[in-house]
Amino acid sequence: MTTILCWDIDGTLLTTARAGIFALEDAAKELMGKSVDFSQLPTAGMTDRQIAANILKQGGMEPEQQKIDQLLDLYASYLPTSLPRRPGKVLEGVREILEQLKSRSDVLSILLTGNISKGAQAKLTYYGLDQYFTHGAFADVNQERRAIATEAVALATAIVGNLNLDRFFVIGDTPHDIDCCAAIRGKAIAVATGVYSLAELEEHNPWWAIPSLPTPEIFFEKVGL
Ligand SMILES: [Mg+2]
Repeated sequence: MTTILCWDIDGTLLTTARAGIFALEDAAKELMGKSVDFSQLPTAGMTDRQIAANILKQGGMEPEQQKIDQLLDLYASYLPTSLPRRPGKVLEGVREILEQLKSRSDVLSILLTGNISKGAQAKLTYYGLDQYFTHGAFADVNQERRAIATEAVALATAIVGNLNLDRFFVIGDTPHDIDCCAAIRGKAIAVATGVYSLAELEEHNPWWAIPSLPTPEIFFEKVGL
């Protein structure tokens, strides 16, 4: 039975140090015709579609799907030049684990993220992690993370056939990741490498809560690989 690992991006695989905010500001300025400061905009665990809807409301516009798409298209076009503006990084333990997973034919790693696919691609490419992922569930259509998790289950099923949800893991850095995992009855691995502390994550009863991703040996043993 194939083990499925679903990876969140921001705060889990990498941090952009909020460099994506610049791209959102540029996109909002172009779409709404005015400068806006998003330095305090909440983003952790939220999907790009939710963030875009909030920006439109803040700018006095109705958050229609078409406007959200327009804003996010602009955002994705500005992202590659925004990322170098902050010293982001790949988070601890990530590259080592992904590198060891490459040779495992009994494991499928996919993305389960609130990013739109173009945004995810820009971030993973910039930080050199794009080689590890060929599939993912994104916020291109779905606004709610639970819906994106359902999409991830369908995607994994299409790729490997029968799924055993006992072998379906969601790795993320916020209570939203834990919640969407519970909704699909997977096992949540919560890493306190984003804005939430280990104690805050533990309150949401993940299957495993850790300060950061450990060595591949410890990770593989816990997950049963
Ligand atoms: Mg995250």
